[in-house]
Amino acid sequence: MIKGIAASKGYAIGTVLIKEDTEVKVEERRIEDIQGEKDRFERALKASKEQLQQIKEKAEKELGADKAAVFESHMMLLEDPEFAGAVLMGIESSKVNAEKALEDVLNMYAGIFAAMEDEYMRERGADIKDVGSRILANLAGKAVGISEYKDNTVVVAHDLTPSDTAQLDRSKVIAFLTNIGGRTSHSAIMARTLEIPAVVGLQDITSAVKDGDTVIVDGVEGIAIVNPDAETVKAYEAKKEAYKKEREELKKLIDVKTVTKAGKRVEVAGNIGKPEDVHQVLANGGDGIGLFRTEFLYMDRDDMPGEEEQFESYKYAVEKMEGRPVVIRTLDIGGDKKLPYLPLPEEMNPFLGYRAIRLCLDRTDIFKIQLRALLRASAFGNLKIMFPMISSLEEFLKSKEILEECMDELRTEGKEFNENLETGIMVEIPAAAVNADELAKYVDFFSIGTNDLIQYTLAADRMNEKISYLYNPMHPAVLKLIKMTIEAAHKEGKWCGMCGEMAGDEKAIPTLVEYGLDEFSMSASSILNAKKLIMEN
Ligand code: PEP
Ligand code: MG
Repeated sequence: MIKGIAASKGYAIGTVLIKEDTEVKVEERRIEDIQGEKDRFERALKASKEQLQQIKEKAEKELGADKAAVFESHMMLLEDPEFAGAVLMGIESSKVNAEKALEDVLNMYAGIFAAMEDEYMRERGADIKDVGSRILANLAGKAVGISEYKDNTVVVAHDLTPSDTAQLDRSKVIAFLTNIGGRTSHSAIMARTLEIPAVVGLQDITSAVKDGDTVIVDGVEGIAIVNPDAETVKAYEAKKEAYKKEREELKKLIDVKTVTKAGKRVEVAGNIGKPEDVHQVLANGGDGIGLFRTEFLYMDRDDMPGEEEQFESYKYAVEKMEGRPVVIRTLDIGGDKKLPYLPLPEEMNPFLGYRAIRLCLDRTDIFKIQLRALLRASAFGNLKIMFPMISSLEEFLKSKEILEECMDELRTEGKEFNENLETGIMVEIPAAAVNADELAKYVDFFSIGTNDLIQYTLAADRMNEKISYLYNPMHPAVLKLIKMTIEAAHKEGKWCGMCGEMAGDEKAIPTLVEYGLDEFSMSASSILNAKKLIMEN
């Protein structure tokens, strides 16, 4: 039995197919024929585009347009003249081979992503790597086409890139296992979309198995069992059957309104990073969007998104949600979540530094563009604005003042927006929770951001594995702050949600129901299970 990270729930028993690593080792060479080398790079780039186009079309057919969108961003990188230009310039100025010049540019891009605080964004560095590996493989003349699979295949690989995952033939591939990766790596997200079990981060599974071995994939516990005995196979057949039944049962909850045992109606919503993610939330029966992390719109690009572009994104999300609530959080950037085009000073304690609302209140030029776009989109659906990292009433009032300024501007310009739009705050700094009774008088709602609230309350960095044992959502101090926040909101007749990971945590749900939480917001694939648990409590 080999232990890894459970990336996608479910069980599978199948035959191993090791996916060969197409990774190319880059060696530096000095080049005399500069033009010849540039041509070689241009040919590899063209071949990569053609392959990606094919994969994208296949993905669109099999996974749907929203999931194929990841290849759109790969294409964009391939077509970005700055990307290709940087490689060509590298060949010319350093007189090195195309592989080396490409590697340098990829490393630069990867460095930008690796420095980001958000785990999801860090994992997006994998997309850059994916595109880079494809060009490198083409430079080396390696085949990177679409593979053929036998029935009941479990793909075992060092890593699976998004394009590898999209190429998996769903009728044949029943699960996958990888040496590396985390829960929010793209392959893991894809596996959850495909609803096939997957275990990642198994360290050396590629050496532990050979082609043709039988393997059990336990995507619930995050384990792989190689060449199991008959008894284990039997036990897993039963688990698989039970799980299938359970999923089918859960699907019945898609259109069911969630009501607790005590008869309280609660909202179960989804967290999104991009406007297209709303489809996944709807497919899983989400009642709304409890958190739209807008910083994703600002990343993966080299200039600030303008008002028009942001307006289109927010409008798309609210329109597709057809009147359901969509809580959009204003820019939560800063600390070590950096934007390449917005230089910020180095800080000793970035988590306690110049970030989120603190940055926006200082850079009102940036803030107002977003607020105007949000206001204009509010005319098209049920949009609510949420301010992140609020520590004091002054910050909220100042944010509202700037929002009012934007409203005045739009009125003068004759542009429509919802005059009664709700504004709320993230309660993710202990000071806000302690002071919730005062804040509740002014806001329309709270959403508890437990990811940060826990780290600040327990002084335990949410990203440091060494002290992860301290990072405990059920710590009595954390629970007290949550309870206080919910009670303070209710006392003023306001609603209180939660958009941190804790909202979808099976162990926490009963307590949160008991405290009277009104809205639970989580990743789309957790929604149905949360609905079930909430209804049982
Ligand atoms: C939180 O802090 O709980 C939260 C939802 O925000 P983020 O994870 O984006 O910091
Ligand atoms: Mg936060």
